[in-house]
Amino acid sequence: MKAEIIAVGTELLLGQIVNTNAQFLAQECAALGINVYFQTVVGDNEQRLMDSLKLAASRADVVICTGGLGPTQDDLTKDVLAAYAGCKLILHEPSMKAIEDLFASRGIHMVESNRRQALMLEGSTPLINDAGLAVGNAVTIQGTHFVLLPGPPKEMKPMFTNYAAKWLSALMNEPVPLYSKMLKFAGIGESTLEHQLLDLIQTQTNPTIAPYAKEGEVAIRLTTRAHTEEEGEALMAPTMQEIRGRVGEYLYAVQNVPLEAVIVHRLIETERTLSVAESCTGGLLSDLITGVSGSSQPFLGGIICYTNDVKHGLLGVPKDVLEGEGAPGAVSQETAMLLAEGLLRTLGSDIGISVTGVAGPNPSEGKPVGLVYVGLAQNGKETQVFTLQLSGSRGMIKLRAAKSALYQLWK
Ligand code: ATP
Ligand code: MG
Repeated sequence: MKAEIIAVGTELLLGQIVNTNAQFLAQECAALGINVYFQTVVGDNEQRLMDSLKLAASRADVVICTGGLGPTQDDLTKDVLAAYAGCKLILHEPSMKAIEDLFASRGIHMVESNRRQALMLEGSTPLINDAGLAVGNAVTIQGTHFVLLPGPPKEMKPMFTNYAAKWLSALMNEPVPLYSKMLKFAGIGESTLEHQLLDLIQTQTNPTIAPYAKEGEVAIRLTTRAHTEEEGEALMAPTMQEIRGRVGEYLYAVQNVPLEAVIVHRLIETERTLSVAESCTGGLLSDLITGVSGSSQPFLGGIICYTNDVKHGLLGVPKDVLEGEGAPGAVSQETAMLLAEGLLRTLGSDIGISVTGVAGPNPSEGKPVGLVYVGLAQNGKETQVFTLQLSGSRGMIKLRAAKSALYQLWK
């Protein structure tokens, strides 16, 4: 099946918001085995939306629209699709009741336009909105399957996953339930991972393999058409084996968990404590770790040693290592090592991780942007230092440096 995604909203055209819905939907379609051939963005304009629907119907089997299901005058998607289909809009009673109940419970007067959110095309399948008010729609018009989803991602995503995906999969040749699994990777960039798995991604249909890139994280999702978890696992087994053979050393979880959560749980299990010394990440590493519930048990704390004075004063890195003629400098293997070792003395943890590098946009100490050293000191072991050359904006380099530090600990 060929699909087109239409994102509706003038804000998208003005560049005020980023079209993350299209990215999400494209990834979900790939996982379902639906090929997205086109993505369109159109403003909140009746005529241009109609033109877009017609064009999409002429070249796709499935048209997925997101946005414009709200109560206001510029929310037109259902009206325009109804006009295209030549059918009426009717009230979806359960959604109407949910809207009325919500307004009553808050003691606010419901304006007439709120009823619009409960409208659906006559003869369509309502898609329940578990996170908001506007009901979605799924309907087949002259052989083209249309799915209408709301704009806000927190409403759109659960509606797609819980309702629209099932409606779509029932249309396919093999209408079987889906079983999927997320594989999470660290220490490998998304393009390298994709390159290593490209033939599988392009040729596999059951399971399908869809790459997922989130900020600073790399993941792929396997999706099978299987009736039970057991059957799904069996269908995935050969692919899993192939993936492990190629990139297994970077695979840290077969479920959707962040790397820091895996680290924190492992530290709890092995009863070890951790502290961090952060220069270029400026606290981001601590933030990631403390985002995991239960982190207070293994995580003792951190020092943001941004200046040389703090690196020297609090963590004991000698001044002549940090600065002066011929000194290694703040961004160096030596400093990373001494910072990590300083943590064990100062904070008394079993493990100390340090991060020092050049986040950019300008070079520092004559060292290039993206050069980062991660120090890993552990009681009773020789201190290790890892040299990384990261790319991206200042924010991206900070995030990648923090994730890379966690990766060294996981490895
Ligand atoms: P609402 O009831 O909030 O009006 P709606 O279904 O009418 O929802 P829109 O009005 O098109 O949706 O968009 C509402 C908000 O949802 C936007 O301001 C934006 O924050 C977000 N949004 C809409 N479309 C997208 C998109 N393609 N990608 C990411 N976010 C989006
Ligand atoms: Mg709206």
